[in-house]
Amino acid sequence: MSELQVRKIVAAYDGSPVLHGVSFVVPSGAFAAVLGPSGSGKSTLLRVIAGLHRPLEGAIVAAGRVLAGPRVDVPPQRRRIGLVPQDAALFPHLDVRANIAYGLPRRERDSARVSELLDLVGLRGLEHRMPGELSGGQRHRVALGRALAPEPNLVLLDEPFSALDASLRGEVRAQVSQVLRSTRTTAVLVTHDQDEALSMADRVIVLADGRLEQDGSPSEVYSQPRSPWVARFVGGAV
Ligand code: ADP
Ligand code: MG
Repeated sequence: MSELQVRKIVAAYDGSPVLHGVSFVVPSGAFAAVLGPSGSGKSTLLRVIAGLHRPLEGAIVAAGRVLAGPRVDVPPQRRRIGLVPQDAALFPHLDVRANIAYGLPRRERDSARVSELLDLVGLRGLEHRMPGELSGGQRHRVALGRALAPEPNLVLLDEPFSALDASLRGEVRAQVSQVLRSTRTTAVLVTHDQDEALSMADRVIVLADGRLEQDGSPSEVYSQPRSPWVARFVGGAV
């Protein structure tokens, strides 16, 4: 079980609040999208979950373990969370195989596990390419392989497709959701793109100005928006 609980998270930068008590639950194995406009606090929320930003209030619980709370602050490397950043952030001097292996403990870097991961993200045959020789979609698949390597409880994706050409985006979205679903990894994707959230996730959490506006299935959020603002935003008019 790798359920994620985000409980009443309040976070700020230099005293100015950015998240005002955000709560939601992502069931084990589910794929949630946090949808909100630029500046709504999406990246901050992921940083809080990953342990890169300490909340002022609230708690983060994953796989039954408190990761952040009033008296707890588990360091990022001990949270069993994989992060896929916006720009893939591969090591430019390492080939595909070494980039993926980097997510594993040193003793496992030559193991069959790396080949399994190459198959999983569909990069078998490209293992000796350098990042500069890959397409944008292939770079994202390397970043996903690296994030999945240590078998995390949770994978977080911060606007992972926004830098891709529109023509590639649909295909890469489908590949990434297929990999996450086949491994039954609990995942949280943040995006400002309504189509991305509605097409990829089982669950859509709408965020505006650091507050949760709605939390429901894609069809609920689309056909029963809880406020005129959600209706306009999800309808693509904001
Ligand atoms: P999003 O990812 O939805 O665009 P962010 O979480 O990046 O939103 O930002 C939320 C708010 O916090 C914005 O007003 C932004 O300017 C502010 N902010 C983000 N990062 C920092 C930082 N390192 N220092 C100060 N303010 C920040
Ligand atoms: Mg952001």
